[in-house]
Amino acid sequence: MLVLKFGGTSVGSVKNMTNVKTIVSEGGRKVVVLSAMSGTTNALVEISNTIKDGKTEAALQLVEQLHQKYIEVANDLFSNQEYVNASLSYIEEVFAELKACASKPHSQLLYNIIVSKGELLSTFMFSRFLQQDGKKARLISALDFMRTDRNNEPDAFYIKQNLNRILAEDKDAEIFITQGFICLDADGNTSNLERGGSDYTASIIGAAVKAEEVQIWTDIDGFHNNDPRFVHNTDAISHLSFDEAAELAYFGAKILHPQTVMPVRDLEIPVRIKNTMEPKAFGTLIDDKAEGEGIKAIAAIDGITAIKIKSARMLQAHGFLKKVFEIFEKYHTSIDMITTSEIAVSLTIDDDTYLKDIVMELEEFSTVEVDTHRTIVCVVGNNIANHPDTHKLFQILQDVNIRMISYGGSNNNISLLINTSDKVETLQKLHRYIFEMSLA
Ligand code: ADP
Ligand code: ASP
Ligand code: MG
Repeated sequence: MLVLKFGGTSVGSVKNMTNVKTIVSEGGRKVVVLSAMSGTTNALVEISNTIKDGKTEAALQLVEQLHQKYIEVANDLFSNQEYVNASLSYIEEVFAELKACASKPHSQLLYNIIVSKGELLSTFMFSRFLQQDGKKARLISALDFMRTDRNNEPDAFYIKQNLNRILAEDKDAEIFITQGFICLDADGNTSNLERGGSDYTASIIGAAVKAEEVQIWTDIDGFHNNDPRFVHNTDAISHLSFDEAAELAYFGAKILHPQTVMPVRDLEIPVRIKNTMEPKAFGTLIDDKAEGEGIKAIAAIDGITAIKIKSARMLQAHGFLKKVFEIFEKYHTSIDMITTSEIAVSLTIDDDTYLKDIVMELEEFSTVEVDTHRTIVCVVGNNIANHPDTHKLFQILQDVNIRMISYGGSNNNISLLINTSDKVETLQKLHRYIFEMSLA
């Protein structure tokens, strides 16, 4: 069994959905996971924010704009009028619910319900699009098997039992289509796996059905060695290990949801990244076989907060770090980078929900400085810590204001903390130093 996931751009137009139809029509039984059409989840988030601001009329207008877009898609996608009508009546149902949301009090659950509609719409339309062509395609609802537990982690046992039961019930179907991103929480309410979560859905399903491979079909020809949104001349990497891909995704490479490799890594199920618009391009294979040594790729993540904790008493005082860590543990806040000196410890967090409480507790025994708007640039590659080429990385130190470095914590990763305003320049310079070798 294969699991194929198609992102927003891949299902974002009639032309691209036609490409997807060709891709999924080949090969044997498979599960196809779809995102919402590109732009839809952002539009739904905006609708939710507008409701939160109490602007009911404006929210209704946004709902109507999106509604019109889907009416057009339904008319363009199908040639058979019966299919147009079936889609239009589903669209009416979904948009009537969205309209009703506009006058309800805002809550996290209301947000979750609103943003779930994108994947519900795309999978409904795409499954009918395949059926119109006589394909043995069946729509299955992610809400019938995808569920998280009390720790907000996928409930692997529940998912495996329910998904395999659903798949076994229909021996005829060749293409099962389901929604990425959406799930139920431990109380059975509509929830999701956070933005970009359809990749994660695909790998959770891959693990549950013990797939031969999980394929992530997107709008670029693979995992690139730097962020193509900020750097020209980036190249696709043909092979990454699970560790390398996990670090890059965790540190901001938008092409993969940060958790994607976790469910499949121990089962050694490969993840392949492919371009929907260029299916013949090799893409990137992610598996358990690390290959080559030295720097392979660079990624960056914004929204980082740096905390410097100084204490005269730290000098030779054992138990100091324990005290510090216990405070972060108490507020369920994970630390990404850490460096220490004789009198201070500096660390970074990306979730600042409890920042105020954390600082208040730290100030009971130390002086605390907080810097927001920082970015972590992460340089990744197998055994880079010992590789002879790694020194090139440090030539950049004379040009960029680096606030912290983490080197040697793992053999695969060197992290630099910089000001977010220096990010684009840093990524471009690192690219030149490391991959283009010219010190322009
Ligand atoms: P999808 O909608 O298919 O999930 P995403 O927009 O989430 O697609 O991810 C693909 C995009 O990720 C690319 O178009 C590219 O702009 C961006 N990206 C960021 N870093 C990388 C990288 N290292 N390699 C490839 N793409 C990247
Ligand atoms: N549609 C969701 C989002 O835009 C999930 C995804 O695309 O992976 O975040
Ligand atoms: Mg994505």
